[in-house]
This record gives sequence, C-alpha cells and structure tokens, in this order.
Amino acid sequence: MANKINGLDHIGIAVKSIDAQLRLYKDLIGLEFEGIEEIAEQKVKAAILDTGDAKIELIEPTTDDSPISKFLDKKGDGLHHIAIAVENIESVIENLMASGVRMIDEKPRIGAHNKKIAFIHPKATGGILVEICE
Ligand code: ZN
Repeated sequence: MANKINGLDHIGIAVKSIDAQLRLYKDLIGLEFEGIEEIAEQKVKAAILDTGDAKIELIEPTTDDSPISKFLDKKGDGLHHIAIAVENIESVIENLMASGVRMIDEKPRIGAHNKKIAFIHPKATGGILVEICE
C-alpha cells in the first residue's frame, strides 16, 4: 500500500540558544522568520523559519529535563530530526509497525501547529530521528 507524501515538512535543529543562531538563518541567509512557538508538552520552544519549501525549526529546551536538553548534553548543537509530511499518519504508522519497525510513538500525538506527529526510532532509520506528520 502506497502512502501519499506531502513533501519534507521541516528540519529540526537542536540549539542551546535560539538567539545565538537566529540572526544567521534570518538575516544572513534570509529565511523568513515566522515566530517562536512554545511546545509545552515537549518542554521546548521553536523558532520557525520558512525556506519557501520545508521549514527549519531551531529547537531550544525550556527546562533542564527536556528531551532536547539531554540531546544537547550528549551531542551539542546539531541536526535533531527531519519531518516528512504524509496524507494519512495512522496508515503510515500501521505499515511501519506491521513491518516490525521500532516506533517512539506508536500512536500520533499533537506537535507544533496542532499537527499529528509520530517519531520513528533512530535505530530503525540509519541513525536519524525521523518524524512523520499530518
Ligand atoms: Zn519536528
């Protein structure tokens, strides 16, 4: 069963400080800055920048026990995840799980912009944290 794909949605970059990186992406490269969104459930805030195609999200932890804090402690600033937009997230999750792919989220949850999202475990994807979203 083929799932309909709606493109690369965004790339998430973990940063210790949005302020320290925003000027480069916004002013020097020239991406359109759409604002900063707080995602309380994940204990982060994200600066959203539009490339005209996929977005770039600079993700900064808001607490010391945020998953992004743990990522930054281990790896420092860097690529955190890529997100692929799909037409039917439940169907994609079903396909993945039917093939034995390890999921972080076995059911969609609500992420930024009120989208349904689910993360695939990086052990199943060649080391990259992959988000699917609808
Ligand atoms: Zn994301």
